[in-house]
Amino acid sequence: MSETIFSKIIKREIPADIVYENEEVLAFRDISPKAPVHVLIIPKTEIATVNDIQPEQAELVGKLFLAAQHIAKQEGIAEDGYRLMINCNQHGCQEVFHLHMHLIGGRQLRGMST
Ligand code: AMP
Repeated sequence: MSETIFSKIIKREIPADIVYENEEVLAFRDISPKAPVHVLIIPKTEIATVNDIQPEQAELVGKLFLAAQHIAKQEGIAEDGYRLMINCNQHGCQEVFHLHMHLIGGRQLRGMST
């Protein structure tokens, strides 16, 4: 897998507004937020897309959800609610090929548009 901008954020080669970090997961604010809260949650391991997740990485993927839960609470949006979204490949409009979960909230979201 070729290096993405998110690998550079992990290595602190480019800046990001980091809101959460542990040994395996990093989360930072999206540079082009779609809502008052828009955070990207990524594994520090390079996984290009959902299609590339290996069975032995199931626990790591679960930790993205636990990070989302934690950050939603930290941002004060857990009770009102939020959306978690992962885009995959061209039809899913994936732009950065390092697996990432969008955590979006802080306002009433509209229904899913296609
Ligand atoms: P996706 O379309 O799911 O691949 O989403 C990629 C997201 O990464 C977009 O929402 C971009 O705004 C965001 N993004 C791209 N570069 C950066 C960056 N340097 N720091 C933070 N977010 C970024």
